[in-house]
Amino acid sequence: MSKIDLKSLELKELEEIFLNLGERKYRAQQLFKWLHQKMVSSIEDITEFPHSLKDKLTSDYKISRLKIAERLDSKQDDTSKYLFVLDDGNIIESVMMKYKHGISVCLSTQVGCRMGCEFCASTKSGLVRNLLPGEILDQFYQIQKDQNVSISNVVLMGSGEPLDNYDNVMKFLKIIHDKNGQNLGYRHITISTCGIVPKIYDLADEEIPINLSISLHSPSDEERKKIMPIAKKYSIHEIMEACNYYIAKTNRRITFEYTLISGVNDQARDALELAKLLKNMLCHVNLIPLNSIKEFSHTKSNEKLVQDFKKILLKNGINTTVRREMGADVNAACGQLRRDYINRMES
Ligand code: SAH
Repeated sequence: MSKIDLKSLELKELEEIFLNLGERKYRAQQLFKWLHQKMVSSIEDITEFPHSLKDKLTSDYKISRLKIAERLDSKQDDTSKYLFVLDDGNIIESVMMKYKHGISVCLSTQVGCRMGCEFCASTKSGLVRNLLPGEILDQFYQIQKDQNVSISNVVLMGSGEPLDNYDNVMKFLKIIHDKNGQNLGYRHITISTCGIVPKIYDLADEEIPINLSISLHSPSDEERKKIMPIAKKYSIHEIMEACNYYIAKTNRRITFEYTLISGVNDQARDALELAKLLKNMLCHVNLIPLNSIKEFSHTKSNEKLVQDFKKILLKNGINTTVRREMGADVNAACGQLRRDYINRMES
């Protein structure tokens, strides 16, 4: 039987384990603090536990542990990209960005992805597996330890579709928010989704005030279907209804991600249609210049079109920003780094 990952368990689950082992319940809180505040990577390192207890734990349990395979530091800005090796040899990537207002990390939620967006490198070899809550957490912990910093914001925008790994992502949220762990406020966490509508309703019903980002990329169902297969399943109208429900439940502003692709979705008529769609909604648009990948023949929109697109949205009362292209010199696009690394290892 494979060992259970202690880092993936909520406090109440740890309490059950200790009670079943004939131990006192308070041990669970001690262990939780060692895992999520001291960020230990091995049962052996928990000096507060007697050897007999460590031995008991080691027979059925383990602590998931990511190893840094590579770190690339941008020369242009304070961005570092990390490639991590998981216990089973799979590779994932994460990004750390230093802003004036704090340090943000972009974490992966799956190895690969099965959503199939045409422009995204993460999905090109399909989904390998879901990440455990402990593996999502450990990206945060390893970066925090490596940089010797305190991370203030988390975005689940790395490889994978967070809402396609719903239960593990929920556990990740609860553990990172726990006051016995990192005590990270929900308002400092963002989930990005390509638009899995039923899961947006589930997330709203959790009633936790995290930020929701929707990867929209087009105001038209027909155009969206050409670049995002998920659009064949859920219409933009259904996404908007789910977003309005989310806003009603959480009172949080939604961000719409819009990757500008030259000649595909960057014309004035697209901006006008987008403005019409989002009128009077508690939202914000984040324009992302496409990060070219070799599997997708299109290029990013030129700077003038980006600015024109933004102006049209602003003129129509839609809050809009253009995402800075951080770390472009270290292979920024979602999933590119991992693919490059795997290709290098295989050649
Ligand atoms: N699956 C989730 C989160 C991961 S992708 C989602 O779809 O939202 C994070 C963001 O990066 C999404 O908005 C995605 O559409 C965008 N993205 C992916 N590849 C990109 C590329 N090559 N250039 C620009 N943006 C990209």
